[in-house]
Amino acid sequence: MSWKRWSFLISCVVAICCAAPSRAQIRQNPPAMGIPESPSLVGDTAGLAREAQDWLVELVKINTTNPPGNEQQAAKYIASILTKEGITPELLDLTPGRSAVVARLRSSAVPDPSKALLLVAHMDVVGVDRSKWSVDPFGGVIKDGYLWGRGSIDDKSMVAANLAAFIALKRGSVHLNRDVIFLATADEEQFGEASLKILIAKYWDKLAAGFAINEGGKVVLKNGKVQYVGVQVAEKVAMNISVTAKGKGGHASMPSKENPVVHLAAAVDKIGNYTAPVHLTSIVRRYFEGLAGIEDDETAKWLRVIDTPDRGEHAQRVLSDMNPMWNSMMRDTIAPTMLQAGVRANVIPSEAKAVLNVRLLPGDTVDVLLNDLNKLVNDPAVKLEVLPDAGLAAPNSSIETEFYSLITKTCAKEFGGVPVLPFLSTGATDSAQLRLHNVQAYGLRPFAMSEQDDARVHGDEERLPLASFAKGVDLLTRIVTEFSITH
Ligand SMILES: [Zn+2]
Repeated sequence: MSWKRWSFLISCVVAICCAAPSRAQIRQNPPAMGIPESPSLVGDTAGLAREAQDWLVELVKINTTNPPGNEQQAAKYIASILTKEGITPELLDLTPGRSAVVARLRSSAVPDPSKALLLVAHMDVVGVDRSKWSVDPFGGVIKDGYLWGRGSIDDKSMVAANLAAFIALKRGSVHLNRDVIFLATADEEQFGEASLKILIAKYWDKLAAGFAINEGGKVVLKNGKVQYVGVQVAEKVAMNISVTAKGKGGHASMPSKENPVVHLAAAVDKIGNYTAPVHLTSIVRRYFEGLAGIEDDETAKWLRVIDTPDRGEHAQRVLSDMNPMWNSMMRDTIAPTMLQAGVRANVIPSEAKAVLNVRLLPGDTVDVLLNDLNKLVNDPAVKLEVLPDAGLAAPNSSIETEFYSLITKTCAKEFGGVPVLPFLSTGATDSAQLRLHNVQAYGLRPFAMSEQDDARVHGDEERLPLASFAKGVDLLTRIVTEFSITH
């Protein structure tokens, strides 16, 4: 970046932010590797993060438990913030009470969707069991350095951080080299009739982008220090399989060998103990290679030989036992989750059913798995069927793009040189929908969190460490501004 451009940006910043350091300070620290020394291209982000925290508190107070969602109320609140900034948001209606909200900062009169950057996060949250919470999950309570509440992490923290980065661009009056689109979506948790899939079908022209930032990644905090950053570039594909056993019903006083409950139980037992073969994808290989550099010696030893012909198989077993996420990153998984049979204690039913939740690695097909499971069960009374609404396999996002390398460089710099690794998430996100539409979507949840913090997502007492939130707002703002401001 030339000094002329740099000084122009700085003067914009000084105009909007009295906390920005002097030009002299900036001059002493020229940007390295295209990444600015502190502050970000739009100045000090501490004030911005405080505003974003207030937005987040208000968003948590709006109960968007899905179902029913009621995201329209959150969408209107977000629209009011954007309007105050002189941005024109648009509510995209999906079903009664359910809307998404979109806004765009333009780089030129004629948009180039292939260059545009989409900042996407979802407004809906999963339900709560209030009896397990020590505070009101929709009270927006701040306590012990945390914001407590359903959605404080998943995914309202991303909504607020995206909003902050987006508004920073607007306030900076900067010259954009691409359109930047802010999008808060509905129905991510149920993936139903108000989801991103429907939104894309109805309103793609308003959302179309070449790049996106979404949830799905993570900044892993261990013993109070950031260990590594995972940038989600791929995800497993979710689907359900029904297992139905049919047999002879009748009086329970005269049982026969055709009792479907027994056939189902045997099938579920076999399936539950089945381990699918390992299939190391290129992303998972890269991830394990990176982890080997930061894990303890014993773990690293196995990570290093995971792909070798002599010790690979043993290493895969050890690592699978060590960490259920690693296990799931290496193979298709099948988890029996529901059982259903019988209406009375003294009646043998004629049918018994189970549901299996399946997570396929990208590139694997369910037909192969079904074939393996049928062979394993080997019972003509038992039938396996893929249930409707199976997830679709999407291509990986590329780790060769300029944007990916900018994300990794900026994350590494923000967290003191920690490894930034491509990540395959075992859970599903909306990014698969975007990838199916040729968007290079990257999962980045920029808030450093311990395993315990992370484990409360979808659970009891979900809470976000506020210091991590402030740093995450800074990181996201740096990434977004660096990528979208003309140098
Ligand atoms: Zn989420």
